Amino acid sequence: MITSPAFADRKYALLGLARSGMATLDALVASGAHCMAWDNRAEAREEAADRAEIADPMLADLSGYYGIVVSPGVPLNSHPIAQRSRDTGVPITSDIELFAQARAALPPHKLVGVTGTNGKSTTVALIRHILESAGLPALMGGNIGLPILSRDPLSPNANGVGVYILELSSYQIDITQSLDCDIAVLLNLTPDHLDRYDNDFGKYAASKARLFAMQSAGKTAVFGKNDPATRAIAEAVASRSGSPDVVIPDKTTLTGQQDWASLQGPHNAENTAIAIAVVETLGVTEAQWRPALASFTGLPHRMERMAEHKGILFINDSKATNPASAAPALAAYKNIHWILGGLPKGEGLDECEPFFGNVKHAYTIGEAGPSYAKLLDAKGVKVDASEMLCTAVQSALDNAISGDVIMLSPACASFDQFRDFEARGEHFRKIVQALTHTGKAA
Ligand code: ADP
Repeated sequence: MITSPAFADRKYALLGLARSGMATLDALVASGAHCMAWDNRAEAREEAADRAEIADPMLADLSGYYGIVVSPGVPLNSHPIAQRSRDTGVPITSDIELFAQARAALPPHKLVGVTGTNGKSTTVALIRHILESAGLPALMGGNIGLPILSRDPLSPNANGVGVYILELSSYQIDITQSLDCDIAVLLNLTPDHLDRYDNDFGKYAASKARLFAMQSAGKTAVFGKNDPATRAIAEAVASRSGSPDVVIPDKTTLTGQQDWASLQGPHNAENTAIAIAVVETLGVTEAQWRPALASFTGLPHRMERMAEHKGILFINDSKATNPASAAPALAAYKNIHWILGGLPKGEGLDECEPFFGNVKHAYTIGEAGPSYAKLLDAKGVKVDASEMLCTAVQSALDNAISGDVIMLSPACASFDQFRDFEARGEHFRKIVQALTHTGKAA
């Protein structure tokens, strides 16, 4: 785990004891800090009780405390902890900020921070894969589900220094104050998570922009090219005095995408162009990155080539939780049997509409199902209102022929029917396995 002498003898209050909260508690305690910890769940409090004083920072005396480490899941725009922090003068902070402060005592290294509405995990995993293929020590952490403080520090090797690659959500950036990334990346910006930003897209964009405000001169800032909000931030960063060097890669100059099985679709061309800009800044050459693109296997639930059965390809894109992220998956294939629906993030399917021509048949599920079925029918797309995922897969299998693609790319959050997008994707995997292996279908 990552510890720091800087935390010794300080007092921290932790609010939220899920994966990153527990990892923070371990790292702080191992560094010699005193911790107060709280979570609404009694099991989490019990699990922390041997290392922390269990008390609610909303009620307990915070005098002498250095910071309140808040889990990114706590909505600061509505949770009273924000006011409590102002009243007590104890600042809100994050595990990412603690990592930023711990860096001084780590062996020499580089730090890459990746944010954006869509494509963060894919790009982070791709950067890590290319660096490892080039023989550089590298590890990923943050929003990708691997708390950074739980990882073991990297040491330089004969090929160079270690590289930490952090996936950063806007919630994490909001509670981080001094993360000076050697390379910071903004992939794209489309309306999402607006409930946390008072339905104000400008506030959401400003949150992402802070990643660059924390960078010092001489560092590098890499931007996607596809949307006006990202371009506006790139321009603002470039015009700031003492700004990092701004790089905006052009995906149209990339050749060879047909050889990269797990990087199909225009969105992955964009992610790849950005990953290449990052690794080249770190000294990796084309002779090193090109073979790594072909050997990249992608991540589960992101346009994952899950199975093939009787010439039908199954794609699990359960991570597509909004229409903007489902659109590129629809663009990447033809003859698609598209399973979509869940808890909608907004109205309509505007971003997906240009690719309706690739959809042979749609199957709607979940809360958004009835309205999506109506919308698709009105646009001339054949559609079944399936409601349940298992019904949708069965119907798709009944209709599909060799050469077709059955794809779960819901364009919605999962919480109406599943714990999270991973549970939804695993459920899809199990249904497909059951239906194809028992020979019930097609
Ligand atoms: P994140 O970590 O930002 O949620 P992922 O890499 O997990 O992103 O991908 C989430 C979804 O977004 C997937 O459905 C994927 O196909 C889609 N996606 C990936 N990259 C992009 C991009 N550059 N633009 C739009 N959508 C994308």
